[in-house]
Amino acid sequence: MHELSVTQSVLEIVLTHAEQAGASRVQRVNIVIGELSGIVGESVQFYFDFVSKDTLAEGAELVFRRTPAQFRCQACGATYEPQGADWTCPLCHQLRPEAIGGQELLIESIEVE
Ligand SMILES: [Zn+2]
Repeated sequence: MHELSVTQSVLEIVLTHAEQAGASRVQRVNIVIGELSGIVGESVQFYFDFVSKDTLAEGAELVFRRTPAQFRCQACGATYEPQGADWTCPLCHQLRPEAIGGQELLIESIEVE
């Protein structure tokens, strides 16, 4: 259900911009998803196909770009990108990460006709 509410906000933003641009149709929406956001691109596209029916964005393709997780070590203050499932700090080897990036969902650009 998380993706459904996310998808509805995406659609709202897309439609607002498309209308402002005087577009007749939205072709493509480029979206950035952080690795830690827990959002699955395929689910967003799936919901989008439903919620965009009879709007300017009906049939639009969503293109997802994933941004890596970024952590700040709460022990030594280093910032780092975790390697796969290993979230330990590369400097002090402690496991006290605080997420400082990779949780975002952003609409990067919208392509319209
Ligand atoms: Zn550290």
